[in-house]
Amino acid sequence: MSRVVPPGAGWCGRGDKKRTFEIHEPVVCYDKPAAAQVDRAEYDRKRQAALMGDVLQDFIVPKKSAKTWTMQAGDLCRVTVVEGSQVGDMNFWNLDNPAERFYSGKTRQLHSSHLSVYDRLWSSLPHLRPMATVVADSIKYGIDEDGASVHDVIGTRCDDYTYKLITGEDRWGSCHSYLTKAAEEAGLAEADVHDVWNIFMCTGFTKDTHQYFCKPSPARKGDYIEFVADMPLLVALSTCPQGDVSTPVGKAVPDEMCHPLGVQVFRAAAL
Ligand SMILES: [Zn+2]
Repeated sequence: MSRVVPPGAGWCGRGDKKRTFEIHEPVVCYDKPAAAQVDRAEYDRKRQAALMGDVLQDFIVPKKSAKTWTMQAGDLCRVTVVEGSQVGDMNFWNLDNPAERFYSGKTRQLHSSHLSVYDRLWSSLPHLRPMATVVADSIKYGIDEDGASVHDVIGTRCDDYTYKLITGEDRWGSCHSYLTKAAEEAGLAEADVHDVWNIFMCTGFTKDTHQYFCKPSPARKGDYIEFVADMPLLVALSTCPQGDVSTPVGKAVPDEMCHPLGVQVFRAAAL
């Protein structure tokens, strides 16, 4: 004997009728803890002291590559767009214990989907400590009418595995592969490469389907972002092979759309 399913009823008996839900105001999940709110004057002073001190490192990350460098607590790093518009993907490890590394998801929850001045980059559990604090951003893009902003902690990093999933083609040449090579040269392994801070990238979620979208980076030659290290750091930066990321993953990106980024590390003079 077959069960009689009334018209409009689904297999689980709830029916296909659209449910209605109570309406609530959004509540911010993480009421920003005190440790996520820096003393702005203190970080302005740290920035000034570092910029007036010594330039410890000054180098270029060539297009479609990655480099690592180290910083001590209090050092300031400035990443600059030195030619054309270019997105960078960043990883951070505790220099003394690389198991403690940047935790983009928790950083997103404690601050927001896109980082701006005085936001901090937090480390993985069980440590959960500030690794660095953003102290300057020449772009100051804000949030546009599509909800897009720059410097996100939403995405992961472009990688050849997802590229193959989309295109069916093998490739070596992505932020993940560049970061892996740089990490290996620094004594780490592919598994140490983690979700990134996407500097200069302009992203958001579509309003109708909440899909991750990108817009061409608004960063132009001379634009920069700066952060102060809050602990000894090993830092990695890749120059994305998608250039200003105006092309969806899987589409060919002309080589002339890819550019280098400049890195400088400053240290305050000893008192
Ligand atoms: Zn990339």
